[in-house]
Amino acid sequence: MKRKRRAQCGIASGFPRQRGGHTSVHFDLIVQGGTVLDPESGARTRADVGVVDGEVRAIDPDLPSADTAELIDAQGALVLPGLVDGHTHVYWGGTPLGVDPDALAAASGVTAWIDTGSAGAGNVEGLVRHVIERSPLTIKAFVHLSYVGLVPAGHTDLRFGELFDHRLADVGACLRALREHAPHVLGVKIRLGANSTGPNGVSSLQAARAVADASGLRLMVHVADPPPLLPDVLPYLHAGDLVTHTCTPGLMGILDTAGRVRDEVWRARERGVLFDLGHGSGSFSFAVARRALEQGFVPDILSSDLHAYNVDGPVFDLTTTLTKYLALGLPLDETLRRATREPGRLLGEDVGTLRVGARADIAVVRLESGRFGLGDSTGEVVDHHERLAVHATVLAGRRIVADPTVRPQGKRKPGLPPIDPRLTPPAGHAPAR
Ligand SMILES: [Zn+2]
Repeated sequence: MKRKRRAQCGIASGFPRQRGGHTSVHFDLIVQGGTVLDPESGARTRADVGVVDGEVRAIDPDLPSADTAELIDAQGALVLPGLVDGHTHVYWGGTPLGVDPDALAAASGVTAWIDTGSAGAGNVEGLVRHVIERSPLTIKAFVHLSYVGLVPAGHTDLRFGELFDHRLADVGACLRALREHAPHVLGVKIRLGANSTGPNGVSSLQAARAVADASGLRLMVHVADPPPLLPDVLPYLHAGDLVTHTCTPGLMGILDTAGRVRDEVWRARERGVLFDLGHGSGSFSFAVARRALEQGFVPDILSSDLHAYNVDGPVFDLTTTLTKYLALGLPLDETLRRATREPGRLLGEDVGTLRVGARADIAVVRLESGRFGLGDSTGEVVDHHERLAVHATVLAGRRIVADPTVRPQGKRKPGLPPIDPRLTPPAGHAPAR
């Protein structure tokens, strides 16, 4: 059961102090000596974070550590809420794209994951029972409109998208699945484009809209290559719905032929439609992101779209994705907010926050100096002089560490050239052979 929050926000000690200091205070874990960054306000405070019973109990410059079972030295590091990846595919073993979030969380600092439509009504029960309910991570899912879930046509030799046959757009079954798995789901997902809906784009979108309306949940729309075109899609989206693959190089992208962010995109943002990055294998172009950023348009959520066919590059993980926005010039606080509180809002009141009373999901992250090769989905490689690197991950008050016996997560479509050797993987990354 969730405890009541003791402080509204920010950096505060909610622990009842005694005269003469904290002499009777006992913490299970202290993250010591780091710079606590509140991504929501941008405030930075040099402070220790004390954890009791899986909950942040104090954020204070000098917590007593004598009896503390576990200390994490965070000197020179940023102490953040556990990262939230707003777009992933974690139905591992259940769909070809799936990666195992439990195996990847410690190294990546990601304590909350959103699965975006790996499964449809016909197979979401497996995602819930075998992944979500068994994992100590926070995981919620969008359910795909297609009864069979997402068919990875581009990544495999399959030449059949999940909605090429409109009979798979089963509105009733999708609605029943959303109701049945209500605590674990966020809404309905649809992938629009030549590879996924083929000629059925608009009819599938209308069916997905009907599901969202009847369920009262969100609609997330993937955009890639037409048909349909983005201006024909956006009118179907309401406040709180999401467009994913915001910086796709595909022809459903956010820029017009002159390189300007489309008027329809600005209007959608004004009415509350959210834009998710969803880097993925084919959906992030530095050129598009750069042009949009120059015009003041940044995705609301910076997510990886991590799956088995990009975990060995160019995506690797969420912090590598975030480093790409640092390389483009987005300030650190704004970058981190889009991978903590912004996607966290979809998951719950305290997800993506670091405050007294919240669950102690914490990422300790360093800004490493060096020379790092960052790749997009089009083959462009940007060299940057620093990167975000995860130093420690705390999940529900316990430090978690990567299990060296876990299998590598990556898959590779036969016949593709090897990943560009100019790309720098995260430290400790184990690619599939
Ligand atoms: Zn995806």
